[in-house]
Amino acid sequence: MEIKRGIAVSPGVAIGPALVLDTEWFRIPQRTIPRNQVEGECHRLSMALAQAAAETRVNEEAVTAKLGPQYGAIFGAHALMLTDPTLVQEIESLIRNENFAVEYAVSRTMRRYAKALESIEGGYLAERVADLFDIEKRILRHLLGLRREQLRDLSEPVVVLSHDLSPSETAELDPRRVHAFVTEAGGRASHTAIVAGVLDIPAVVGVGPFLTDVSGGDVLVVDGHHGLLIINPDEETLERYKHVRATFRSQESKLHELRHLPAQTRDGSRVALLGNIEFPQESTPCLERGAEGVGLYRTEFLYLGKQSHPSEEEHLQAYLTVLRTMESHRPVVIRTLDLGADKFLPLGVGAESGAWRTAPERNPFLGLRSVRLCLRNLTLFKTQMRAILRASAFGDVRIMFPMISTLLELRQCKMILAEVKEDLEEEGIAFNPRLPVGTMIEVPSAALLAELLAREVDFFSIGTNDLIQYTLAADRNNETVSTLYSPGDPAVLRLIEGVVRAAAKYNVTVNVCGEMSGDPLYTMLLLGLGIRQLSVTPHSIPTIKRVVRSATVEESVKVAQEAMRLETARDVNNYLREQTRRILPSAFD
Ligand code: PEP
Ligand code: MG
Repeated sequence: MEIKRGIAVSPGVAIGPALVLDTEWFRIPQRTIPRNQVEGECHRLSMALAQAAAETRVNEEAVTAKLGPQYGAIFGAHALMLTDPTLVQEIESLIRNENFAVEYAVSRTMRRYAKALESIEGGYLAERVADLFDIEKRILRHLLGLRREQLRDLSEPVVVLSHDLSPSETAELDPRRVHAFVTEAGGRASHTAIVAGVLDIPAVVGVGPFLTDVSGGDVLVVDGHHGLLIINPDEETLERYKHVRATFRSQESKLHELRHLPAQTRDGSRVALLGNIEFPQESTPCLERGAEGVGLYRTEFLYLGKQSHPSEEEHLQAYLTVLRTMESHRPVVIRTLDLGADKFLPLGVGAESGAWRTAPERNPFLGLRSVRLCLRNLTLFKTQMRAILRASAFGDVRIMFPMISTLLELRQCKMILAEVKEDLEEEGIAFNPRLPVGTMIEVPSAALLAELLAREVDFFSIGTNDLIQYTLAADRNNETVSTLYSPGDPAVLRLIEGVVRAAAKYNVTVNVCGEMSGDPLYTMLLLGLGIRQLSVTPHSIPTIKRVVRSATVEESVKVAQEAMRLETARDVNNYLREQTRRILPSAFD
């Protein structure tokens, strides 16, 4: 039994066999074969090794010609390994003695070598591990050939393990088959993590290197509450987790019973609990969990799996689907496209207009993303605005601009919106002329300029995911800086406090829509700072409602005041945990 620790990003417990994915999505299950197939498997092995070695020799020659022999030699070494009799013998003995299928025998042997290299002190051989994976991939490619399976075609339940998963790969996971996933990379507020929450799949990210310790088919326990991955658990651990899984399920159904109760503090203050969605279909579970509306619709997910820009009609149909589910009277905040950085920006899309970059940026999180990109591509921006305005004739639609970092940017967005309104008017197309306009506060400059921005909008929505990242200069996707990345950091709290104060002065509503708002640890703090609207991942709605219903504004204000006096994120978080447990002992169970 081995235990790995990572970052818990989507709650729940899953128990199931490992499906190890490499970057090329090979599936390597632990599979045994009948004795009479042993010779056939050994034959497949020697064919695959021979093909892989021949391919590597070709690479060696090509690279030598292009870059010189010192680089060609890298492939020469790979070819030597592929023909190394010790390697062949080890794989063959797994097939002959243990009756393992050849793919699994290859994978297990290569991973044993990789682990041995990794454990050599000094770390100078760790680089070679990448070579071993490369060789493994090459052999598997020859073995699996057309049998390469994609995640969406899975037929049995599995726990997916991978170095990383992109948000779109995650979105394609089928929760009926993928019971959990664990990645080496990633951070708490990465979009991959967000999508996992949306799909209700327990997930742990940012574990660091662990793939060499697992083989396909190993039994795993994923504890999405505490960020644990347990490889080949002993009987006792397995039984304990089966119990935890059952308790979690029954708690879920108890939380579900809160659905019809208001999100109201014990001293009578109402809190609006809204849902964050990425796909129109999610508005149904959102409502089922008791959301009063949609506080953040991340429309960039309309690009998922697409090679071209969505048309005005496609935008409109997506928005109308959400509005219908929200019974037209519930608010739906549509955020304009927040493309770029780690979110769906197919290189080259839009390149024909010259408005979009065609080469990767050196620092995409500080680059041409989000509203900056839209302001350079007015056709795209106006298409979406037309659809939002047209949808506003059918319900309580609100528009919100992401990543605003200067006042001028906000003014430009509003000016374009005014132009689009004029066009629609001329065309006689119906829309709400008083469509509420909001801006996200997710860049420190916007938080600092909140007073100026407040004069020009109807509402703010604090995007803590980016606000924390940019305030602490800590990449939200990078597990190695995840200890810096904390919503409880005093710098973040000061920015939020300032935004709330500025908004109150101009009667602007403040919503919080980053992952912080869905974490029960921060509910009292946000209430105490004066926040009365939270937009959270649908699965967090009942949990947050329970905390709201256990708190009073009076004690939350005291908690917030005390938290603001503390000097480090750790002190703030410990204090908040203690105070939340005081009012609701089971808040974090
Ligand atoms: C945020 O940054 O907090 C936010 C809600 O936006 P996203 O997570 O989509 O970047
Ligand atoms: Mg953001």
